[in-house]
Amino acid sequence: MTDSPSWRMATRLVHAGISRSPHQETSEALYLTSGYAYESAEQADARFAGTNAGFIYGRYGNPTVSMFEARLAALEGAQACYATASGMSAIAAAVLAPLKSGDRIVAPRALFGSCLWILDTLCPRYGINVELIDGADLTSWREACTRPVQLALVETPANPMLDAVDLAAVRAILPAEALLVADNAFASPVTQNPLQFGADIVVYSATKHIDGQGRTLGGAILGQRALLDQLFKDYLRHTGPALSPFNAWVLLKGLETIQLRVEAQARSAAHLADALARHPKILRVLYPGRADHPHFAIHARQMRDGGTLLAFEVRNGRAGAWALLNALKLVLISNNLGDAKSLATHPETTTHRRLTPEARAALGIHPGVVRLSVGLEDRADLEEDLLQALEAV
Ligand SMILES: *Cc1c(COP(=O)(O)O)cnc(C)c1O
Repeated sequence: MTDSPSWRMATRLVHAGISRSPHQETSEALYLTSGYAYESAEQADARFAGTNAGFIYGRYGNPTVSMFEARLAALEGAQACYATASGMSAIAAAVLAPLKSGDRIVAPRALFGSCLWILDTLCPRYGINVELIDGADLTSWREACTRPVQLALVETPANPMLDAVDLAAVRAILPAEALLVADNAFASPVTQNPLQFGADIVVYSATKHIDGQGRTLGGAILGQRALLDQLFKDYLRHTGPALSPFNAWVLLKGLETIQLRVEAQARSAAHLADALARHPKILRVLYPGRADHPHFAIHARQMRDGGTLLAFEVRNGRAGAWALLNALKLVLISNNLGDAKSLATHPETTTHRRLTPEARAALGIHPGVVRLSVGLEDRADLEEDLLQALEAV
């Protein structure tokens, strides 16, 4: 069966990209194989020459991985997708494959920790220059772009304070030949599609909402077919961050339910954000869907809803945040996110401990800040748990 262009999104999420074996299985087949046999020496020759379509080796491709790539591309509205073993292998490829020594990257300071390490520690070792700026300040972008720039890596909403980057405005400021790479893990492809706002490349940690059930690592790079093939085909084949077929199968099944999950989680997140904002022990709540988020206007243009994540600051700094975390009975303490289970983390002492206190303060990551990833539990149970835990603050 081939995908129909008239299918609406919910249908695509269940059927897009399926390629059935002669057994006509209803569920997607899991092809656990590293190699493929050829019918003849002539066919092997043609396969390597590119004149005979088909798989060559597990590092180059796999039918289950291809199904996942096709379905995620359908959801993102992208021509092409390359799956990778983790979000970080996708981001490392997206940053390193297009660049060479002497090139320059501009990126917001508010970035996922490992992304920041690639930019501030790894890239300089290879002679790639990096300038970190305030991603929400278009004047900083204009100033940074007065010198040559080949790539911008942005995250919107960003970890952990849910800062926004105005993708269309940044695209307009960047030189035409510079690549705009958007890490869309926090929003998920259900809530935001950065290609629509001028991003050239979208990268995912599929570990998060795409799996959505806390089981496997995975990643993806999406964009136009010609651009992706030119930048990444050889790089990915020869450096080998291939997604395992088993993990691709788990992620493919995750896509069947992603819209239902993420929309329900976002409704609960909006409800909890409002409930927390009214609480006297909470100094502030940061939720992209609330009008009091400093970047609400940008989020409202780019996101279909407020998303599944929020951050809030409790009274009494680190002691208050730890007292809250330790008093939770339902919400788990975990730095993961996008899971069916609600997860809370203390950025100062976990995800952002590598930053200096000054750098954390500049990003608003005060010691009392807690990040909450809202899961699929009944929202009344979550609200009760958070309110009882706040009594310990
Ligand atoms: C989790 C995450 C990553 C890294 O993805 P992995 O799958 O853990 O390698 C990158 N960026 C963001 C925003 C993330 O949340």
